[in-house]
Amino acid sequence: MRYTDLVCRTEKGIYCPPGDFHIDPVRPVPRALVTHGHSDHARAGHGAVLATAETLAIMAARYGEGFAGTTQEAVLGEVLDLGGASVTFHPAGHVLGSAQIAVEKDGLRIVASGDYKRRRDPTCRGFEPVACDVFITEATFALPVFRHPDAGDEIARLLASVAQFPDRTHLVGAYALGKAQRVIALLREAGYDRPIYIHGALQRLCDLYEEEGIRLRPLEPATIEKGGRKDFAGAIVIGPPSAFADRWARRFADPVAAFASGWMSVRQRARQRGVELPLVISDHCDWDELTETIAEIAPAEVWVTHGREEALVRWCALNGIAARPLHLAGYEEEAE
Ligand SMILES: [Zn+2]
Repeated sequence: MRYTDLVCRTEKGIYCPPGDFHIDPVRPVPRALVTHGHSDHARAGHGAVLATAETLAIMAARYGEGFAGTTQEAVLGEVLDLGGASVTFHPAGHVLGSAQIAVEKDGLRIVASGDYKRRRDPTCRGFEPVACDVFITEATFALPVFRHPDAGDEIARLLASVAQFPDRTHLVGAYALGKAQRVIALLREAGYDRPIYIHGALQRLCDLYEEEGIRLRPLEPATIEKGGRKDFAGAIVIGPPSAFADRWARRFADPVAAFASGWMSVRQRARQRGVELPLVISDHCDWDELTETIAEIAPAEVWVTHGREEALVRWCALNGIAARPLHLAGYEEEAE
């Protein structure tokens, strides 16, 4: 059997012919296996969805209970027989519930890692390397210039700024799923125990993380009804990036605009967004994490889904690993 007989690329995404399912399809399909809850990977409208319990809960929170015809919970490490292929889910370390999906048949194993990172994250299980013949990876930050600093050091910079400017509101942009909760959890780990104010768009997902046992409290809504601008002086307010462009952001006292993203290492991006305090906190691998992961797993082949594919394919070639880009469309590099 060739690798592409087991898993191949279609315009809807990664497809397994023997099992007749797609992984993270970008359009509605009869049967989808979903690696994690980010909206470019987890879409509504599939016939059946197989994902971890946390990912199913995240999809229900975002799209409503009827997001798929039927759902099935995947337990990490449990072997599932799907048609002619067997499937197992393994932690990916990206966001709560995120998983790599290993597809196996006739002694061949292909792992679709979805989005993943190797750094410690108090809000989700760490990535577990799975031996395989083909490792399918993203390449969002696959250039040697991308070397993410320690997230704890970035949080320390935020807290130093809060101490330095006690009359200003620190307004932190962070993606609603994963990044926002990770920033809050890291603040708690650093000993910050004051209320953290959150935009309404973060409420349901923060509640869900709390229900999963990840300590974020005390959280308060960052609503104007809460009181005047003074209430937020010296406070940390977290909102999704989209909220920063609208009136919501203008209600705060002399705000320090911060933004938590792997892209904040690119000064031009920070400037374009008007970010005063860029926090380089990423839920994706940087260059070293990507290349060290591939070296550790040592697959026969690497397939690169999206991002800076050429640089990673070239690195693989130089290191004696066959690699090719899949040029998958529909996955957003900004939504990290
Ligand atoms: Zn993601």
